[in-house]
Amino acid sequence: MIKGIKGVKDILPEETPRWRFIEETARRWAGRYGFQEVRIPIFEVTALFARSIGASTDIVEKEMYTFPDRDGTSLTLRPEGTAGTVRAFVEHNRASDPLPQKYYYLGPMFRHERPQAGRLRQFHQFGVEFFGTEDPRADVEVISLLWGLLSDLVLPDLTLEMNSLGSSTDRAAYLPVLVSFLKGRLNRLCANCQRRIETNPLRVLDCKVPECRAATEDAPELLSHISSEARQHFQQVLDGLAALGISHRLNPRLVRGLDYYCLTAFEITSSHLGAQNAVGAGGRYDGLVEALGGPKTPAVGFAVGLERVSLMLPDRSLPPGIPPVYVAAFGPEGGPAGIRLLEELRRAGISAVTDYRSTTLKAHLRQADRAGSRYTILLGDDEARRGSVVVRNMDTKAQSDVSFADISRSLLSQISPS
Ligand code: ATP
Ligand code: MG
Repeated sequence: MIKGIKGVKDILPEETPRWRFIEETARRWAGRYGFQEVRIPIFEVTALFARSIGASTDIVEKEMYTFPDRDGTSLTLRPEGTAGTVRAFVEHNRASDPLPQKYYYLGPMFRHERPQAGRLRQFHQFGVEFFGTEDPRADVEVISLLWGLLSDLVLPDLTLEMNSLGSSTDRAAYLPVLVSFLKGRLNRLCANCQRRIETNPLRVLDCKVPECRAATEDAPELLSHISSEARQHFQQVLDGLAALGISHRLNPRLVRGLDYYCLTAFEITSSHLGAQNAVGAGGRYDGLVEALGGPKTPAVGFAVGLERVSLMLPDRSLPPGIPPVYVAAFGPEGGPAGIRLLEELRRAGISAVTDYRSTTLKAHLRQADRAGSRYTILLGDDEARRGSVVVRNMDTKAQSDVSFADISRSLLSQISPS
């Protein structure tokens, strides 16, 4: 037997209603805030991710699925959606159209990580990108969208964590301070972090290893090294959130793994998720459009991991499904009449099923139960000759005669169309 790939999951029919519900809710919230869907490719040239995500990030260093195309060009399965969205924005010269522009995407992403609950190699993200304004109210808007979506899904114990990364100049001034602090604690850091001091020192603050966390407890905070403009921007974001009744926790350790972030950084976590506690994360990336060859265009966005949303989604959040009507047709005349009836019901917008193998009423009723039907239509030779059917309510067992001419209308008035 050939098996699926480790960390790459099938979503079987029992689970797809849950996924569709999450996706539809996400689309609805994006629409409410005026974001429009963009569908970007699943693979791109490797250089796009290396340049936009940053060479010394976990993603680019060790998590990308990269392979040569037949002509040798290096290609990569997308590990996230911002790089492709910005590439499309630049390539199609969208910045010359009126700004702001608001995009959302939804789909699979690929990262070579150690699979565990809430961490897969093929996973799904919903993300938004808001191009064209530095206004802190845009930051508030995307956070409010994410918060509203997750609250609408009734996900438990959510916390919004906020930080500011300052401008790139602020960070350039802060990094030597951080590096000299970290060098003083070198032997208390994990091997990864010892290396990160050289390649991406900010990421040390984000390390999940308990010893590293303890060693950096009193690390100098980026937030106290940012310029007054950056501080003011941050304060306006926090005030905007407060005005909408969205509470937050300051987290000075919150640094994004991606190089293009600046100013606002945020993450939504839940204590329900164990080690993989981040549900979604985002921030501002004012320099990325320019870095990818477009005109200077400020932008802010987020991405939320849908596997983690699904893990937390209570069953009661899901709308009940509409069970199919079961058609139990038998006999030389009832059988063919049943085929015509199935067709009629489906064309009328009613979900209708049967089992062609069943030849007795008993066998049909068993299958009707399996299908979860609330109504079963009994159609034997007598009914076919009379031009009517028997509709059986599977809960009450009550049966009534309905003529062929009335059946669709009668069923539609009892169930909503699928
Ligand atoms: P983490 O610290 O959990 O590795 P990250 O910083 O790599 O997260 P982002 O790149 O910010 O994550 O992606 C946004 C969201 O996508 C995360 O908050 C998470 O919900 C989800 N996510 C990221 N990687 C995975 C994965 N391998 N499997 C499932 N979901 C993921
Ligand atoms: Mg990660």
